[in-house]
Amino acid sequence: MLTGVGIRLQEKLERIGIRVIQDLLFHLPHRYIDRTVLTPIGALCSGYNAYIQGEIEHTQVRYGKRRYLLCRVSDGTGAIAIRFFHFSKRQEKGLQRGLSIRCYGQIRRGPSSLEMIHPEYHVLRDICDDTLEKELTAVYPMTEGLQQARMRKLSEQALITLNNNNKNMSELLPEKILTKKKLPSLIDALNYVHRPPPNADIQSLVEGTHPAQQRLAFEELLAQQLSLLELRNELRTEHSPAFNLSTKFVPEYLKNLPFTLTDAQIQAHETISSDLNKTVAMLRLMQGDVGSGKTVVAALAALQAIEAGYQVAIMAPTELLAEQHYNNFLSWCGPLDINVIFLTGKLRKSIRDSVETQLQKEMPVIVIGTHVLFQNSIRFAKLGLIVIDEQHRFGVHQRLALLEKGQQHDKYPHQLIMTATPIPRTLTMTAYADLDHTVIDELPPNRKAINTSIISNDRREEIIERIKYITVKGRQVYWVCTLIEESETLQCETAIETADKLTEILNSIKVGLIHGRMKATEKESVMQDFKNNKIGLLVATTVIEVGVDVPNASLMIIDNAERFGLSQLHQLRGRIGRGNIKSDCVLIYQSPLSDLAKQRLEIMRTSSDGFLIAEKDLMLRGPGEVLGTRQAGIPEMRVANLMRDAHLLPEIQNTAKKLLINHPDKVKSLIHRWLRKSLTYSNV
Ligand code: ADP
Ligand code: MG
Repeated sequence: MLTGVGIRLQEKLERIGIRVIQDLLFHLPHRYIDRTVLTPIGALCSGYNAYIQGEIEHTQVRYGKRRYLLCRVSDGTGAIAIRFFHFSKRQEKGLQRGLSIRCYGQIRRGPSSLEMIHPEYHVLRDICDDTLEKELTAVYPMTEGLQQARMRKLSEQALITLNNNNKNMSELLPEKILTKKKLPSLIDALNYVHRPPPNADIQSLVEGTHPAQQRLAFEELLAQQLSLLELRNELRTEHSPAFNLSTKFVPEYLKNLPFTLTDAQIQAHETISSDLNKTVAMLRLMQGDVGSGKTVVAALAALQAIEAGYQVAIMAPTELLAEQHYNNFLSWCGPLDINVIFLTGKLRKSIRDSVETQLQKEMPVIVIGTHVLFQNSIRFAKLGLIVIDEQHRFGVHQRLALLEKGQQHDKYPHQLIMTATPIPRTLTMTAYADLDHTVIDELPPNRKAINTSIISNDRREEIIERIKYITVKGRQVYWVCTLIEESETLQCETAIETADKLTEILNSIKVGLIHGRMKATEKESVMQDFKNNKIGLLVATTVIEVGVDVPNASLMIIDNAERFGLSQLHQLRGRIGRGNIKSDCVLIYQSPLSDLAKQRLEIMRTSSDGFLIAEKDLMLRGPGEVLGTRQAGIPEMRVANLMRDAHLLPEIQNTAKKLLINHPDKVKSLIHRWLRKSLTYSNV
């Protein structure tokens, strides 16, 4: 344990995830100060950080636009100005003419000479005190009320323990890998990043690309990979019912479809169908861009399970989407005489009870609903397949909870997970390493490309004209209102206001409104009206994000588009261009736009490739934002950065597989070291 750490300090440390010595070691500096050399003032360049020493020539308070303290320092090779905008009387007094001072800070070009603003400084009491630091000084990420000096002392303590052969910190990476990748040992790496020598390459340290940091990142990503693979192995040993290939329902369903499957759909169907034919639980993620026809593939899987006499549960993230699936399955399964039922939280008690009773009978049935499907009161007598739509909203832990739910005796249902948010490869290799993957990389034929434009808020009138033009031609329009501070209530209010305004302006068009606070029945009737073209313009919040299908809608306006994530914009845009009419998407932004926002909207304008958009989103926002770190079950990483360290992943995957076979003891220690405990579905 740490010595000299009281309760108060302990609390502060816990806020940044530090509980034990090992945590301190993995709490890496985010920058470094070089106080190992002094730079002559005459040799300073603006833009660089430098450590200087000189004599104070004069100090005075000046009154410009703001009051500031100006101190002139020279060392014989040149002079520099030091400026403070915040300063105390004591500070002013302490900087007397004639004293020697050392300053560390960034050099900038000032009005009359080079200058430093608010440098770290100290006045030399003793002119002979000319010792310099022997190492670069680490600067640690901090939390409020914690001082750098304190943190450095703590890390000093941790390093001493480390160097005294701490047995928790033994080397766990195979020698071969270290040699092959030219990576230092754990102990060397930690010593280096906390106390780099004077000649260290600061640039690469700050970027996190130094071999010492890469070594740590490698180990962390490896530990994460191992924990997912262990979980996956555990699941693979479970038994599941094997369903014979369908000879009745699938052929008949395909015969009734008004279109033929795309090659990508056929391939996905074949893979899934052979998975279902095995006694090992299927755990498959099916990715496909919006509109690529995943539902049809899921239906084929469901039919195979039903024909084998099992129950199928299909879970959607929203009521609206669940209803749409329900309606689709009803129309598909009616002719086949298959029982399809709907389950949401809003059903009357008597109806819900009867649904629950039905599920407890060993009768094949397709039940479609929201997460309610997996509440405690629901029991399945013979669940053979779970289909989850829009998986990015469910994390690893929820996935596991579902599996457990479906367990009967020692049998587990198969699981098919569908997502329209293309998941970048870097993430499929990490957060989703426990799943098999299928990609539907082809859209049904005859889809027209969507033309996307970016328009400033002050050109709303043009947009109104466009709406009139479109609706006169009998087409329909979506108007999506922004998410304000994650508050659904505010979002609804904005939508209501917008709908009122648009009703006023567009008096010849029927304007509809749909938002999250409306009752399910109200939403359904609005959606029905929109589908039946009784509504020309639908003002909506993001409740329409997933799955809603109205082929006649050919214009989408997204208000305050800069506030949405790229993947979300892509999802929204996927609501149009579903028929064979040319469609347009207008992204309205509030100026001024930040550079980042500009870049992001530009990506939307120029690309319709979900995978590319997801990669960019990941690059611009990081994995936590893209997937919701906790939701996605990606543990917060201490050292590694998925984008920066993605190049390590192939080697990490190899190493993980080998370790699992050859060194199970090391696997345990690695997982314990980085994740504290492994993922198991018994402790979800
Ligand atoms: P998503 O992958 O976004 O869930 P859906 O399964 O909802 O896509 O399909 C989108 C639309 O495309 C639906 O109206 C569906 O009936 C239609 N569709 C699916 N597959 C095909 C196909 N092979 N050819 C033509 N239309 C198709
Ligand atoms: Mg869908």
